[in-house]
Amino acid sequence: MMNYELTAEQKTIKKEIGKFCQEAIAPTAALFDESPKDKAADLMKANFQKLAQANYFGLALGEDIVGATVAGEALAQACPSTFLAAMSSIVSFGIPVKLFGTAAQKDKYIDALVKAQAIGAMGYTEAQAGSDLGGISASAAKKGDGWVLTGVKDLVTNAPLADAFLVLAWTDKEAGLEKGLTFFIVEKNASGLTVGKPIETMGLRGSLTAEVALSGCEVAAAAVLGGEAGKGHAQLQTVLEYIKLSIANLSLGIGQACLEVSTALGKSRQAFGKPIGLFEGVGAKLAVMFTNNDLSRLLTLRAAWSMEQKEAESAVLTSCAKLFASEAVNAIADLAMQVHGGHGYLRGAQVERLYRDARFAVIAYGTSELQRAAIAKDCLDKFKAA
Ligand SMILES: Cc1cc2nc3c(=O)[nH]c(=O)nc-3n(C[C@H](O)[C@H](O)[C@H](O)COP(=O)(O)OP(=O)(O)OC[C@H]3O[C@@H](n4cnc5c(N)ncnc54)[C@H](O)[C@@H]3O)c2cc1C
Repeated sequence: MMNYELTAEQKTIKKEIGKFCQEAIAPTAALFDESPKDKAADLMKANFQKLAQANYFGLALGEDIVGATVAGEALAQACPSTFLAAMSSIVSFGIPVKLFGTAAQKDKYIDALVKAQAIGAMGYTEAQAGSDLGGISASAAKKGDGWVLTGVKDLVTNAPLADAFLVLAWTDKEAGLEKGLTFFIVEKNASGLTVGKPIETMGLRGSLTAEVALSGCEVAAAAVLGGEAGKGHAQLQTVLEYIKLSIANLSLGIGQACLEVSTALGKSRQAFGKPIGLFEGVGAKLAVMFTNNDLSRLLTLRAAWSMEQKEAESAVLTSCAKLFASEAVNAIADLAMQVHGGHGYLRGAQVERLYRDARFAVIAYGTSELQRAAIAKDCLDKFKAA
């Protein structure tokens, strides 16, 4: 039965996490933007501690995916950078450990992630391969019972903060994508692992991203995610569902922040003797922002619910949510800047930061082009010619 009502528990999450994020996290969002990277790292670690105390990570790793999505919107609205860093630890690293890890791997990491005693990261992208996993070069060679990893992972979110990395590498290239790729859990102090300097990014500047190089990096057999090599591609496809949902959620939170700050300005700023929101040209922008963000929310919650129900359609629904919400938030951020006039364009303006943050969503973890291709393939498979 179709039911758009959040449960009583989810309504409490929305209220309590929303209040916590506005009070404890939102004030750091602007600080991140201009801070040197070492200061940003300290701020982010402090935010992780606050999020752990509010049980945000427990929710994000729990079974209530709709509830986690409601909490995620609140965090993304308060500070998109903190949302991305939290997502990279809990979703990109924590979800695969929770779903596929051995008992020892779960014992070691899950509770530590929830309490922010450990921070995780995941690297599958390389300088020459992002969308095309077949282009990955990183490889693992057998040595005794263990493996030796070689390769360089690019654009790894949380790399400068992380205690452990999930790294995707070939264990048998001849076997192809389906059976040849394997995820390894590599600790930050493993010999042969080097984290590069944080990279300067256009937006989401508080979320620290760096290269992770593996050179003769020896790991034990127990470092293989789930204990069995060759399952990396299938594991990544499942995790990408959670990640696509998260990027839709990030978009939704940024969109809500744009809408709220623009609506407030529509009431407070006067021109020609009245609040600018009363001019049709401005009011129409607020209406479009609201409508499109609400559509993003409907698609995102629909996809979250579908994942919870373990529907076969959840994979394509997360692509639809990511595609729509990420493109919608770019249009919404553009309208927000227009509503703000010249002051919105200034460095330090909230909408200027949100505009830069939004651009990430249509690129990362499956570009819009790849989402369209996946949705089209699903249509072609589903709706066969009569
Ligand atoms: C700030 C930031 C943080 C990130 N964090 C992480 C992280 O933590 N871990 C990680 O592994 N990765 C991370 N990434 C990488 C990100 O997921 C990739 O950038 C993204 O998947 C796109 O890959 P690419 O950059 O290699 O682009 P490419 O794959 O080279 O694509 C370039 C262009 O070609 C298009 N294209 C490629 N193939 C096709 C096709 N078949 N059909 C149509 N068009 C196509 C793309 O849509 C795009 O427009 C991060 C990126 C950024 C910017």
